[in-house]
Amino acid sequence: TAVTATPTIKQVKLERESELRIEVANDMPLRLRLLNGTAEIFGTELPPEMWLTFPPRLKFAVFTWYGATIEMEGTTETDYTADETPMVSYVNVHAVLEGRRNRAKASSSSGSETSQGPRVIVVGPTDSGKSTLSRMLLSWAAKQGWKPTYVDLDIGQGSITIPGCIAATPIELPIDPVEGISLEMPLVYFYGHTTPSQNVDLYKALVKELAQILERQFTGNAESRAAGMVINTMGWIEGVGYELILHAIDTFNANVVLVLGQEKLFSMLRDVLRNKPNVDVVKLQKSGGVVSRTSKVRQKARSYRIREYFYGIANDLSPHSNIANFSDLFVYRIGGGPQAPRSALPIGADPVANPLRVTAVNIDRDLLHVVLAVSYAQEPDQIVSSNIAGLIYITDIDLQRRKITYLTPTAGDLPSKYLIMGTLTWLET
Ligand code: ATP
Repeated sequence: TAVTATPTIKQVKLERESELRIEVANDMPLRLRLLNGTAEIFGTELPPEMWLTFPPRLKFAVFTWYGATIEMEGTTETDYTADETPMVSYVNVHAVLEGRRNRAKASSSSGSETSQGPRVIVVGPTDSGKSTLSRMLLSWAAKQGWKPTYVDLDIGQGSITIPGCIAATPIELPIDPVEGISLEMPLVYFYGHTTPSQNVDLYKALVKELAQILERQFTGNAESRAAGMVINTMGWIEGVGYELILHAIDTFNANVVLVLGQEKLFSMLRDVLRNKPNVDVVKLQKSGGVVSRTSKVRQKARSYRIREYFYGIANDLSPHSNIANFSDLFVYRIGGGPQAPRSALPIGADPVANPLRVTAVNIDRDLLHVVLAVSYAQEPDQIVSSNIAGLIYITDIDLQRRKITYLTPTAGDLPSKYLIMGTLTWLET
């Protein structure tokens, strides 16, 4: 790892089909521009000569198909050039998907199975580059005028909203290399934990809700139906993690399964999906540029992500502080707690916890520093099946005056009084 100490201007000449891999310094942004040739960052073309500013800690690669010269200003944690990348195999996948989209579009009037574009699911262990590959496939498709739907099922390091959520959004333009996915109207469900083992049934129920809503939207929209979707998953591939991958493939009717960087997972999936001739399981190489993250780094990344939600990527948002009475807000928790007291059950039966049960939570000091979701539910019993409007962060609980202070990304009333609590907390740093 080379550490550059002083801010300098540096030019890097990239040969065809090579990439410049960069880790921005921890405390300073990096400026970069394309001097000549053509280059892209994870599928999105760089504008010629325009300086772009990349925030601290960002890890990315500038790839060129035909050669380019890049200019950088500032310090990096690491930067190096690599000429061995799996990009050709990735763009070949894109070409196949493109063919399927065109075929789906051509038969869109027939309304049958054939008008459905590719439903791609990207699976693989942690740090295999799943989010990055998803992003490239989406940006390449958007560049050609499609509006594919991005579905992110990763509750740990998801790229649509904050950790603890699953979400979907149409991608109408190549994804901005700095800003990431633009969030006009994402469809978000709140799971509330960063590991699926906390409540597997709830996770599955939310995946199902999300899939059903998208299915309904596709029915009325031939354009997005033909463009298809790209589904990003978690890096948990053993045991329950494997079961959840199969559940997602099934629930979304995925017809292309891209397996990154793991032979064993590939052969397991190929074997179980053998009886589904319309599902293609494809093995792809992991890029050597993917940066591995320790659990500590992941935890930090989650915390930054929550910060970004309220303050913006470049600290460009000013969150709003609000005060409400305890009696104005209704906080619920999903799952946990016995379904019925032992005395009310038949002899010998165990009081099993109902994973989807919604219970009211008393407002007390335990809510301090908790991130809560604002549900679109009209009634408490609709909470599991409802998507969320956004998130709030509790900054103070005044037990004496029975007042609660919370942060919202923008000013204005909450769209609903029903809030969902999980185990997601955040310490403002
Ligand atoms: P997770 O296990 O969290 O689901 P993942 O498999 O989705 O991870 P990515 O998030 O795609 O992995 O990649 C991990 C990190 O490596 C990201 O910060 C990403 O920007 C970076 N990265 C991926 N490919 C490259 C590359 N070719 N050069 C430099 N950095 C890269």
